Amino acid sequence: DGPLLRVEGLVVDLPRPDGAAGDTVRVVDGVSFDVPAGTTVGLIGESGSGKTMTALSVIGLLPDHATTGGELVWRGKNLLRPDTDWRRVRGHQISMIFQDPLAALNPSITIGRQVGEILRRAGRPRAEVRHAVIDLLDRAGVPDPERRMNSYPHEFSGGLRQRAMIALALAGSPSLLLADEPTTALDVTVQARILRLLRSIQREQGLAMLLVTHDLRVVAHVADEVVVMYAGRVAERGPAGAVLRRPAHPYTRALAASVPAVRTKTALADPLPGSPATPANRPSGCAFHPRCPLARDRCKAEVPQAREVAPGRWSACHFAEEVFTP
Ligand code: SF4
Repeated sequence: DGPLLRVEGLVVDLPRPDGAAGDTVRVVDGVSFDVPAGTTVGLIGESGSGKTMTALSVIGLLPDHATTGGELVWRGKNLLRPDTDWRRVRGHQISMIFQDPLAALNPSITIGRQVGEILRRAGRPRAEVRHAVIDLLDRAGVPDPERRMNSYPHEFSGGLRQRAMIALALAGSPSLLLADEPTTALDVTVQARILRLLRSIQREQGLAMLLVTHDLRVVAHVADEVVVMYAGRVAERGPAGAVLRRPAHPYTRALAASVPAVRTKTALADPLPGSPATPANRPSGCAFHPRCPLARDRCKAEVPQAREVAPGRWSACHFAEEVFTP
């Protein structure tokens, strides 16, 4: 059967902002992971890690020529082929929730009409649309949906707008929801509520979710699996609880140690030194080597390939065994 989505050796090259024409930077460099149906996968990394570019590529929002390598196998079919009709995929099979709902919602159309429009495009008979809109807004936790459906986005608070966008994302009955930092712009209590909502919707409807975040606590609460990215590559992946408690990569270990709410059994005495490597300025060999307490000569010379250090646990570190306790 295979997973719902398999990302295999994905490569994304974008134009260098200050470079000459044709001068590109490899922002995603051979990323592989699976999203099994009905599970939540957390894609975690600092800015410049390539996590958002990976998500945008999955929903076909990068220019065609940017994705230069790899496969996105969706239900057994590679989406990175010229004949893919993204309009049939995006919003229907795969939907996305963005960090800033105002950028995604149309300011001059009521929330109810925006959700209704997607339902109509998905083939819902006209007579059922109103009821279905109310139901969707209700499921997304918008209070008094019959009245609120007539509001415009600016009349909603930040938290309500995020709920409206969740309703919008669900309207096309997707099998996979991409959520890019869905709670970062919200205050802490609203964040927790939105995360609980996403989690319960995901479970009730058997949706898969790819949750892009820089926040390890979010992953710890919501994700089944986690993919840790650094400078455009996967550092480590595996079941979320196991990865966070017993990391198999020095970068994950340092990340986890810096978040008090996530207890790792191999806490690092020092916080992560230095600043994150960026794809435009990727160090040789293992991109993490300038910040890694375990780095040695081999790390500077040789890019570590991901290998399975225990069943389901993948690490791209030459010396994973020195970090990992099975
Ligand atoms: Fe550190 Fe070397 Fe492992 Fe990279 S390969 S994480 S530099 S020990």
